[in-house]
Amino acid sequence: MNLILLGAPGAGKGTQAEVISDKLGIPQISTGNILREAVKNGTDMGVKAKGFMESGALVPDEVVIGILKDRIAEDDCKNGFILDGFPRTVPQAEALETMGVNIDKVISLEVADETIQGRLSGRRVCEKCGASYHVEFNPPKTEGICDKCGGNAVQRKDDAPETVIERLRTYHEQTAPLADFYDKKGKLVKVQGQDEVKATSELVLKAVNA
Ligand code: AMP
Repeated sequence: MNLILLGAPGAGKGTQAEVISDKLGIPQISTGNILREAVKNGTDMGVKAKGFMESGALVPDEVVIGILKDRIAEDDCKNGFILDGFPRTVPQAEALETMGVNIDKVISLEVADETIQGRLSGRRVCEKCGASYHVEFNPPKTEGICDKCGGNAVQRKDDAPETVIERLRTYHEQTAPLADFYDKKGKLVKVQGQDEVKATSELVLKAVNA
């Protein structure tokens, strides 16, 4: 099954993509994680992407489309995948079609902007494996330490309040129109984000299996 998780930054795409990935045994593909890794390693792509990411803007389409194309060509994607953070613009969605990728379902996680701001300020992400936590709603067992790999769970630079405002603006302008794009194709399923991660996961899994 090829799935897309849509939603504003901080709507919980990463966490829910992980749940689906575990349940269905298909890889979670996060362009944000791939880009952060490139920035950390100082690759050419990382150097190009860094400024966009730190200001809350999107990385240019041709860069992320290239990343995605390479990633889904890998062996572990042959039985399906879940895209987390891609597509983020209509041209990216069109690029998937040009690649001949058939998307089965698009799950849109619906969360109000005011809720997002609180969530992102409390979000902590593992530096090593990218697992996502929240200091209040989904804390790691030991503060600051990832449950999964023991890495440091830290605040992302782009979760700073002024960058969050810019990311939300970018989302409404460039990414939100994708809901309409997929609704017109009959692929969109909206899921209302809940306060509890587990409660959202139940709704997401129901939507995937419907
Ligand atoms: P995320 O972890 O998905 O919130 O992504 C972090 C940042 O990476 C975003 O704010 C963008 O700057 C960049 N990024 C990730 N995915 C994409 C994409 N599909 N298109 C453009 N930029 C992206």
